[in-house]
Amino acid sequence: MPKILKIKRILFGRNFLAITLGELILTTDRLDACELNHELIHVAQQRELLYLPFFIWYGIEWLVLFVRYRNALKAYYNIRFEKEAYRHQDDLGYLKCRRHFRYDQ
Ligand SMILES: [Zn+2]
Repeated sequence: MPKILKIKRILFGRNFLAITLGELILTTDRLDACELNHELIHVAQQRELLYLPFFIWYGIEWLVLFVRYRNALKAYYNIRFEKEAYRHQDDLGYLKCRRHFRYDQ
């Protein structure tokens, strides 16, 4: 299980809730079950990509989508890792049956 660390909101924007950095989940507030599941999906994605490649892929994909949409939030929601996490965060059994490398499923 990753370590969850509560941090001050002032370090990030007011809309920021949590970020997963490998085996560490930084959060500004208590996560409900679905929010935690969202972050644990990111943990699974990062593990299977051996961490660093995940962040490189994530950043490049966000940049490409930002150029396409000219909207940071729309780019964020369309990153394949976020699409998988948002699509399945309410399914608390998802990680038990999740298939590897199927981010946009
Ligand atoms: Zn996310």
